[in-house]
Amino acid sequence: MQKQAIILGSTGSIGCNALDVLAGLNGEWNVMGLAAGSRGRELGRQANRFRPQAVAIASAEPASELKGELSYSPEVYTGPDALLRLVDAVPFDTAVCAVVGAGGLAATLRAAELGRRIALASKEILVVAGSLLMPLARRTGATIIPVDSEHSAIFQALHAGRRSEVRKVYLTASGGPFRTWSVGAMEAITVEDALRHPTWDMGPKITIDSATMMNKALEIVEACWLFDLRPDQIEVVVHPESIIHSLVEFCDGSMIAQLGTPDMRTPIQYALTYPARQPCPSPPLDLVQIRELKFHPPDRARFPALGLGYDVARRGGTSGAVLNAANEAAVDMFREGAIAFLDIARLTEKALREHEFKESPTLDELLAADRWARQEVTRCKVC
Ligand code: MG
Repeated sequence: MQKQAIILGSTGSIGCNALDVLAGLNGEWNVMGLAAGSRGRELGRQANRFRPQAVAIASAEPASELKGELSYSPEVYTGPDALLRLVDAVPFDTAVCAVVGAGGLAATLRAAELGRRIALASKEILVVAGSLLMPLARRTGATIIPVDSEHSAIFQALHAGRRSEVRKVYLTASGGPFRTWSVGAMEAITVEDALRHPTWDMGPKITIDSATMMNKALEIVEACWLFDLRPDQIEVVVHPESIIHSLVEFCDGSMIAQLGTPDMRTPIQYALTYPARQPCPSPPLDLVQIRELKFHPPDRARFPALGLGYDVARRGGTSGAVLNAANEAAVDMFREGAIAFLDIARLTEKALREHEFKESPTLDELLAADRWARQEVTRCKVC
């Protein structure tokens, strides 16, 4: 029987890779809906190829570009609640949630409410609202399968033992482009420097998050929610080759790792086909050519974002929403040239320190914390 997918964030890096994977799965999948934030023309071209029943675009301006591009007549949703309306309107088994940042939060919560499979690429959703999404998924039977390469690796490695037998999880990090830079050199990092990732080809937001190691901070929180781990069970290890995507250590000392070329199509496809495995377009790994794999401890002094991840994982409540929103706002300002690279972690830390903490927030309270953190960071760029 044919399976049905929708992609939230189809024009981003993960979304494009997801369509590539779906096209390769021998006609087993139907793309029922595509949604994007702003790239109307690109969304139109994708729709013409995959012929979904409905398309959605969040911003108003590119909606006219989208309609101009379409060569058939799908249902078109526009505006801030367009993604949510698409989730409600079309039938689907699996939603690939790959909106950059926390913009896909409401639509992802709705997919969970409907009890569907969620192939989750937007780690920000768990960082902001893991306290709502995980219990909701348990209630409705929605399955959340991670697309993030490290978490896909952990998800796969966990199958080697029982959950109660897990001692630790090792999240690998490439270390980003500034792994070996001095603090002095890091003061003068340009946007162009930060966008040059050594191993992964990704969208600009996550590439800058990798450069600050904020990406790993978000991933620590993401891992705690996904796998019900304590923060002290998560260790970050710098592994510049990005071949081992993460490891699980069991109580007998055995460590189970997942290895592969740094290609997002592998974890995306596994999230779609799980528990089955199928041939994937990503190139196979040539171990002899790689020859050696290196591991280092992360430098917490040069990458203070990492510590923020542990703090937030321990604290919970509204702190994840503040971490994520402050970082998103700071990354935008860095890209606009308004602040320096090292200010991203500095402003995020300040927002976390000064926010009005709530222990068990509702969705509205999380969204309010998100708004507050964005305003605070924007206001603070001159402090
Ligand atoms: Mg990752």
